[in-house]
Amino acid sequence: NQFGQFNLKTEIVKAIDGISFNKPTKVQKRIIPPIIAGRDVVGQSQTGSGKTHAFLLPIFNGLDPSLEETQAVITSPSRELAEQLYQAFRDFQKSLAAIDENFADLRIADYIGGTDRNKQIRQLERKQPQIVIGTPGRLKDFLSKNFLLVNQNRFFVVDEADMALDMGFLEDVDTIASAMPDNLQMLVFSATIPDKLTPFLKRYMKNPLIEEI
Ligand code: AMP
Repeated sequence: NQFGQFNLKTEIVKAIDGISFNKPTKVQKRIIPPIIAGRDVVGQSQTGSGKTHAFLLPIFNGLDPSLEETQAVITSPSRELAEQLYQAFRDFQKSLAAIDENFADLRIADYIGGTDRNKQIRQLERKQPQIVIGTPGRLKDFLSKNFLLVNQNRFFVVDEADMALDMGFLEDVDTIASAMPDNLQMLVFSATIPDKLTPFLKRYMKNPLIEEI
């Protein structure tokens, strides 16, 4: 498996076999290494390029399944895209859990506008999920009311940032970003980088690697 070329843990590479990927796409080749190395990255790439796994794999690689705190937050502006992301994360977890049982009980939550808010709050009061995928409004809601705690969070991913801007969600994404701890790795994906996005990127990202793929 050509994913062996990256500095990924053996069990991650085996789990990639389980989802039947055998060679990385161009965007994966370009940005998986800097993400594993801990850099903030802005990826200018389209849907269909394989960008989801370019951040999904380093997130699973860096996660501590025994730590019952939120370690990765991913936001996407559309409910449909957020659901697709959630499914990709669940599929990879299933494959990884077959190799490393420590990942069997990993909690991945989807907080999408229009879904059962009260049920999600009750679950959050019992236990925090390790990976959270959500639309900006619902995430902002849970963060501002301290239902979702992100003081240990290590990865913050903004997917489809230009779409978030167009849909009027950038303010919510900004509020989410401001709730994150300082020493976290931030990854932003956007098909284009409109001028209106630049102040947001400058405010929250640390010396980001900008990759146009
Ligand atoms: P994305 O651009 O992340 O939405 O990915 C587009 C599609 O390509 C999804 O169905 C992925 O599961 C698939 N995909 C991503 N990376 C690979 C890969 N390295 N090998 C085969 N399929 C892939």
